[in-house]
Amino acid sequence: MRVQELAATVADLDDAAHIDAIRALEDLKSACAAAQARITAEFDATRTNPAGLGAEIALARRESPNRGGRHLGFARAMQEMPHTLALLESGELNEWRATLLVRETACLTKEDRAVIDQEFCADPAVLAGLGDRAIETKARARAAQLDAEAVVRRARKAVADRHVSIRPAPDTMTYVTALLPVAEGVAVWANLKRDADSLVGTGQAGDRTRGQVMADLLVERITSVDNADAQPVTVNVVISDETLFGGGAAPAHVDGYGDIPAPIARNWIKNAVTKDVAELRRLYANPTTGALTNLESVARCFPKGLARFIDIRDKVCRTPWCDAPIRHRDHIEPHENGGETTELNGAGLCAACNYAKQAPGWSAEPEEASGLHQYNFTTPSGHTYRSTAPPLPLPAKKRARTRQVEIDIVWAA
Ligand SMILES: [Zn+2]
Repeated sequence: MRVQELAATVADLDDAAHIDAIRALEDLKSACAAAQARITAEFDATRTNPAGLGAEIALARRESPNRGGRHLGFARAMQEMPHTLALLESGELNEWRATLLVRETACLTKEDRAVIDQEFCADPAVLAGLGDRAIETKARARAAQLDAEAVVRRARKAVADRHVSIRPAPDTMTYVTALLPVAEGVAVWANLKRDADSLVGTGQAGDRTRGQVMADLLVERITSVDNADAQPVTVNVVISDETLFGGGAAPAHVDGYGDIPAPIARNWIKNAVTKDVAELRRLYANPTTGALTNLESVARCFPKGLARFIDIRDKVCRTPWCDAPIRHRDHIEPHENGGETTELNGAGLCAACNYAKQAPGWSAEPEEASGLHQYNFTTPSGHTYRSTAPPLPLPAKKRARTRQVEIDIVWAA
């Protein structure tokens, strides 16, 4: 039965039946997650070479390779947690709550993990009615009781994961997130809050709120606008000439962020040009498709110009459903098999996707296409997927040859 038909069969029923149907479908989703976990574990057990396995699962589930790896880890954990798997199968636990139990017991031995599985999930009444947070807290507390040493080791290891990341927020805002050890994280926040409080308290903050002052202080301190020794950094923007000079509406693309609306980009660039900190470079794209035009080289490593070309053309990792930033310019057809170092045979990939692709049984070949750059790749299970490069911003009026403009804005010089 197709999903639409399923929805239609309950369309004429009363309220109680609607709610019953919603519950039944929710149970079905959990049961599907359990079935996927079982099948993934079987797939894992029969495959002799585990390399790239997570990436294959990700492609099948239309998710990023990172998520694919987590699904694989989840499936393996379910083998050690049969009662949790049973609750997932019956719909008593959903996939996320089962994932929380896996995550909070990941640092434990197989035996201790089995204790929590038994205590929490053998009887469905134990976790009945508990929300995400309650389940997480309960599992964490029990894990600490069973093996405090392991929890401490895990905390120490987590410090190694500290990092800073950026992702787009609505309305052309952005989240810059730092994952820090708790003491340092609290220190950063308390420091900003103390100084913001003081500026607000002495009337030096103008009409800014405390939150706004904290955000401004963060930017000032990190980009060191007042610090003469500060090294300038570059923000890379790709924009169509029509948008830049002709008032066009096509958005501009900012490296590390994504698309920003035309008026904001124009303003930004105008300010940078006025302050003499912008460097403009011209790029050319096909006016109909937005495909960046060709470049060629015979070197083994992608030369700087070609690497830059691939980065601008591909924007993010070329694996479908993977949004990770480009870390490697990969030869689609390997160099040792005669693959050329060209725009056609090059693709921008994140590190994980590049390693997955090098595993035995993976193959890829570029496809000569008149429009956007394309290549096909085949996984060890014999499934073929296609990757298509995103189009560049197009101008409002199409001309014979459209000029794109790439702009490096030196930030905080
Ligand atoms: Zn990737």
